Amino acid sequence: MAGLRICSALVTGANRGIGLGLVRHLLRVSNPPKWVFAACRDPKGERAQELQHLASKYPNLVIMPLEVTNPASIQAAAARVGEHLKGSGLNLLINNAAILLNRTLDTETLEGMSQIYTTNTIGPLLVSQAFLPLLKKAAQGSPGSELSCSKAAIINISSNGGSIDSIYGWDLLQVVSYRCSKAALNMLTKCQSLGYREHGILCAALHPGWVQTDMGSSAGHAPPVTVDMSVQGMLNVLSTLSEKDIGTFLDWEGKVVSW
Ligand code: NDP
Repeated sequence: MAGLRICSALVTGANRGIGLGLVRHLLRVSNPPKWVFAACRDPKGERAQELQHLASKYPNLVIMPLEVTNPASIQAAAARVGEHLKGSGLNLLINNAAILLNRTLDTETLEGMSQIYTTNTIGPLLVSQAFLPLLKKAAQGSPGSELSCSKAAIINISSNGGSIDSIYGWDLLQVVSYRCSKAALNMLTKCQSLGYREHGILCAALHPGWVQTDMGSSAGHAPPVTVDMSVQGMLNVLSTLSEKDIGTFLDWEGKVVSW
């Protein structure tokens, strides 16, 4: 991961699962960021205990409240990050928070579809909008350099479940709302990559693998990939991303995932 030299990173849904793993690994790299912002719904609650423990060991870790379905919460988080950064920008935004409802074609509802879209698709849109000024600032801080995650990037954690081509795991889990939300997130990633390129911001979607987390285990089968494997793989991939990877959909091992 020698290529990833970031001053600041923010991860949403950072209190458990892959988000927590990303924070852990970012703190432990050989050139750790000056600031790692771990955003979660309830920073003082029981579900954030591991983050609180990490914060007692790493002064560069800042835990902050962020409910990705609430615009006021998103704006407040962006303002807080701006205060911490004191005039410098945010290099890396990882939109990781998401939910999954185990529903089928027959059992999906208006409420379920709306809830999933609001969290998994609209959340990353609004979070990216709110942090855009800080990302732009980071890009302006390294003029002339090629696009990279060390400069300024939005990484949306997607899923091969949202791939229209492969429809991975249909027999195991239909999760129609989740699949639709991730397919839409992929399109959002493409749009962001087109719109933000001129500002020096690299945008890409990543599939983390089938990972041993609460969400990954919801099919009732043991996922093959540990959080550490997934996160190490994704950070390796992030360290290699450049101009040619704008708007791509890659997995945790760097392989292209078909749309
Ligand atoms: P988990 O269910 O283990 O964790 C989800 C995280 O998202 C939690 O921190 C949760 O917070 C947070 N979150 C959920 N809703 C909101 C919200 N409205 N606002 C803020 N935070 C929220 O999931 P994973 O760690 O497994 O998944 C992480 C990402 O990886 C997701 O985008 C998922 O779709 C993707 N993914 C995961 C796969 C897997 O096999 N695990 C496979 C493919 C993709 P709280 O504790 O408050 O609920």
